[in-house]
Amino acid sequence: MALIVHKYGGTSVGSPERIRNVAKRLAKWSRAGHQLVVVVSAMSGETNRLIALAKEIQANPDPRELDVVASTGEQVTIGLLAMALKNLGLKAKSYTGPQVHVLTDSAYTKARIIEIDEKKIRSDLQDGVIVVVAGFQGADEFGNITTLGRGGSDTSAVALAAALRADECLIYTDVDGVYTTDPRIVPEARRLHTITFEEMLEMASLGSKVLQIRSVEFAGKYKVPLRVLSSLTDPDMALEEEARSGTLITFEEDTKMEKAVISGIAFSRDEAKITLTRVPDRPGVAYQILGPIAEANIDVDMIVQNISVDGMTDFSFTVHRNEYAKAMDVLNTRVKSHVGAAAIIGDPKICKVSVVGIGMRSHVGIASLTFRTLAEEGINIQMITTSEIKISVVVDDKYMELAVRALHKAFGLENAAA
Ligand code: ADP
Ligand code: ASP
Ligand code: MG
Repeated sequence: MALIVHKYGGTSVGSPERIRNVAKRLAKWSRAGHQLVVVVSAMSGETNRLIALAKEIQANPDPRELDVVASTGEQVTIGLLAMALKNLGLKAKSYTGPQVHVLTDSAYTKARIIEIDEKKIRSDLQDGVIVVVAGFQGADEFGNITTLGRGGSDTSAVALAAALRADECLIYTDVDGVYTTDPRIVPEARRLHTITFEEMLEMASLGSKVLQIRSVEFAGKYKVPLRVLSSLTDPDMALEEEARSGTLITFEEDTKMEKAVISGIAFSRDEAKITLTRVPDRPGVAYQILGPIAEANIDVDMIVQNISVDGMTDFSFTVHRNEYAKAMDVLNTRVKSHVGAAAIIGDPKICKVSVVGIGMRSHVGIASLTFRTLAEEGINIQMITTSEIKISVVVDDKYMELAVRALHKAFGLENAAA
């Protein structure tokens, strides 16, 4: 008998029929003798609908109240799934995040989980109950409802698996695993049987929405065995087969020995670029620019500072597109005159495309092939950042799909051995 956490995303619980299918799948696992905790998302489209509703009342919704509204989608799904499980003669109980003490900080709309008190869940499990928990939500120390950022149910699931020291965390979704890139953009993308935790971390942080970045961070920190697999297969398929399907996130690099140098191409449309032109090149300038941005709780991604000409330099960085307006406001009101920048130029129509693979450590020429491929397509590179296992470029939004397809082909990802 194992303790297993299942997570089902929005599409997987998108209709009563799908919810019934999830219940059937869980019944199979339960009858095989496993203890089950199930984390669910809101039904597909529901969180978007709730956020749009909030924006009809307040153009810039109050973050605390927005979380109160946005978190309700998951509460519907837990109740429905628990009912479907009971219909099959199983014991089940639904809980919201706060009911099982998912304690977070108070950063509304992007809260971080601090701790989960697993006692209540454990006692239910011992009574043979399937515990159904709402993903994406928790409460801060004052009891305020918080949400964990879009895609946050993945993080709820992995955090619960970590707290319960579960044997495995299975993320059921609408694709049958992690692909070399988003199969919606490149139909030739190929499923990976395994991906190293480090690569998955890069892919997720660079925009591959198949797993929320924080879920991968948790999995790494607490060594949670993690698998991504399809919820759309026949729920009655053999359990052993299902348990081996999808993509396993591994911790060992050596399984990569015969693998391709590059594992995948990630992309993100969620970014915006900001440039301060002709900033005096003196000590403390980066701090004067980015200090107020950090104080406003805005995350900065890429940062590029040019070499100076005549003691002046240009300073560019990227932020999440949702925080672009706020960042521009902070710069115009608190930074521009203070640092003496000539102008602040913003561009929200950019995207980031990244080539990821731990094979980069031992192979040369990845950067040059990346740049040559983009040059041959006539795509201008606006910013570049690299780490040991990734190369990211910022390009004009309109070239995103072209860039992803061209790089996927250039690195032979459709053919590589999985
Ligand atoms: P869920 O609702 O189950 O959480 P998401 O929509 O958040 O599902 O994540 C699954 C989607 O992630 C897929 O439908 C796919 O379009 C997208 N995706 C992006 N990059 C990848 C990738 N590298 N591999 C697989 N899917 C990807
Ligand atoms: N329902 C939330 C969202 O749409 C959380 C999730 O699905 O993981 O972002
Ligand atoms: Mg998701």
